[in-house]
Amino acid sequence: MEEKIKKELKSLLKKCDARLEELEAEYPERKGFMEWLSFSGISRRGFLKWSAIMSATMMLPPVFEQRVARAAEIASRIPVIWLHFAECTGCTESLLRSNNPGVAEIILQYLSLDYHDTVMAPSGESAEKSLKDTMAKYKGKYICICEGSIPTKMDGKFLRVGSKAVTGLEKAKEVTKDAAAVISIGHCASYGGPQASYPNPTGSKSINDALGINSVIIPGCPYNSASLVGTILYFILFGKIPTTKGGRPLFAYGKRIHDTCPRRAHFDAGEFVREWGDEGAKKGFCLYKVGCKGPLTYNNCNIQGWNDDIASPIKAGHGCIGCSEPAFWDRMAPLEKPIEARILPGVESTADHVGWTLIGISAVGMGVHAFYSYFKGKKKGYNKECCSEHEKEE
Ligand code: SF4
Repeated sequence: MEEKIKKELKSLLKKCDARLEELEAEYPERKGFMEWLSFSGISRRGFLKWSAIMSATMMLPPVFEQRVARAAEIASRIPVIWLHFAECTGCTESLLRSNNPGVAEIILQYLSLDYHDTVMAPSGESAEKSLKDTMAKYKGKYICICEGSIPTKMDGKFLRVGSKAVTGLEKAKEVTKDAAAVISIGHCASYGGPQASYPNPTGSKSINDALGINSVIIPGCPYNSASLVGTILYFILFGKIPTTKGGRPLFAYGKRIHDTCPRRAHFDAGEFVREWGDEGAKKGFCLYKVGCKGPLTYNNCNIQGWNDDIASPIKAGHGCIGCSEPAFWDRMAPLEKPIEARILPGVESTADHVGWTLIGISAVGMGVHAFYSYFKGKKKGYNKECCSEHEKEE
């Protein structure tokens, strides 16, 4: 068995080395990547440390660390077309405005962005020309990153883009069809975003639903740059997207926020913030009672935060709002209220159970609570379609 694994690993390394060599030969070296890192306060040593962390994050053995560093440098040469559709540009903003950018943000800022609606220098006709030229020159080789959802009602006429005013739907179809990989980033591109929430007058849909494709999705509002960079590095190393579940890369979305939360011990001990600014808030207690959706949400915010891992909503004192889950605008609202048992049976009762046990009252109270929550849920109504979608994914 051990021999078999060794053989497979050897063959994987061989394929990976051949691919890296091929990419290095194909795309000219871009000078200045290491200088840019050093300008941003990241030493060579820091970069290698980051590569080791990324290897572990992508569930690759240590023998890949140097190769990940090589892939990170190659990432700056691979042609990328970054499209914007119906959205607030928050995903791009979160990347550009990082106060304390880490290696992941720097790699994204240094990508060979041959076309990016927001940050490219050309505009109008010359921007269109850049797009056409890149698509023709790198047909079948460029990575297409999509930000925003696509309105589909009235043949997509709710969104027109570019100097020729084509619909977002037309542009997405044209650019994604010749891409080597399509990556949908942010909640809007992944699941439709607020535009697709009830009653969705423009018929906005995720990239996959609008185009009928299976792009890898990096949901979040905004997405986490480490998850996008990890996906790009994996593609560079192996020529394919990482293993996914429900379209999301498992390495980034394999665990619930609740299971990696720094406040989890307080949840287990029944210690909750019950009102903003109360004693519990000052002591850093669990945010479940003020609406944290961590028990329903799969993402890596607690493992890999923003701004070089110094920030995440829960660290900042606000509960998770569930932004990497399908239709969170419809399913998770109201954001400041606790999850109800009707959405995920067991969660609310678990929290209550902890509290009740602590004061020695029998579990009968939980039954009453679940009964009450169930009927309260029925009375208010909820988007059953979204819930069944979530349960399917679970
Ligand atoms: S409910 Fe929220 S704050 Fe509390 S432990 Fe879970 S994820 Fe953390």
